[in-house]
Amino acid sequence: MPVALHHDPRMIEHRPPARHPEKPERLEAIIRHLRRVGLLDACPAGLVREATDDELRRVHSAAYLASVVAVDGRGGGPLEADTWMSPGSLTAARLAAGAAIEAVAGVLADDRPDRAMALVRPPGHHAVPGGAMGFCVYSNVAVAAREALARHAVNRILIVDFDVHHGNGTQDVFYESAEVAFLSVHRHPFYPGTGREDETGSGPGLGLTRNIPLPFGTPPADFRAAYRAGLQDLADRHRPELIIISAGFDAMAEDPVGGLGLDFEDFDRLTRDVVEVADVHARGRIVSVLEGGYNPSLLAGCVETHLKALGA
Ligand code: ZN
Repeated sequence: MPVALHHDPRMIEHRPPARHPEKPERLEAIIRHLRRVGLLDACPAGLVREATDDELRRVHSAAYLASVVAVDGRGGGPLEADTWMSPGSLTAARLAAGAAIEAVAGVLADDRPDRAMALVRPPGHHAVPGGAMGFCVYSNVAVAAREALARHAVNRILIVDFDVHHGNGTQDVFYESAEVAFLSVHRHPFYPGTGREDETGSGPGLGLTRNIPLPFGTPPADFRAAYRAGLQDLADRHRPELIIISAGFDAMAEDPVGGLGLDFEDFDRLTRDVVEVADVHARGRIVSVLEGGYNPSLLAGCVETHLKALGA
């Protein structure tokens, strides 16, 4: 099954200070590796464009969006303790959100592949409506999900986040939503501190947020079993018409930031579990959006494994 690849070299031009783990080499390594193994040529190229202000405003406050533009206007600097802007960052961040939007639009179009991956940076799942957080400028996945609901004929979406960190920003955006269910499996206690099991949504969204916090040292088999059970249960309950993956690979063993002992084989299984529920509920439609993963060469191998498990 073809998997459309949405990527653009301008996202390499987001350059946080030296020694920042979210570095340009991450994306460079992925593209180089996918070219070497033939996947860059094998996968149809998807569209990438900058997200518009209207699209970003579906998730982010006008005041926050203006503050990002202001920092860019000064030539860059910190948005918060962990999140930096360089010249090129504003364009990269807009492209990251726009790539996720276009990946969703492609998967929902009848004449385009039912699977897509947006290879983006900066990542998105920690960004909250009113601010940047944890390397993330815009909430790429949340913006794309809101666009899907607003412009396409889908009413129920499931976001699956297997990044080693809790996807607090995505959770915040959809905590009261009856339309978007959110599953996050993550190391806990760990940054950003949220994602306890008793955070389950509220109001119309009650029961549609599912957190699977796992302590450091959890065996990969236990990780996979808890994730699979949570995923299948939430999918049966929500019956999503589209699944979006917040694809972070920092639970990989030897990741310098996260490290929860997973191997390539585990990411293959985590991905195939999503394919299984997408085939049952969502006509196979999956959009994957890159989040974390901080050892560039391991990350590149994880993305290859993930793409092949999606069908590439
Ligand atoms: Zn992460």
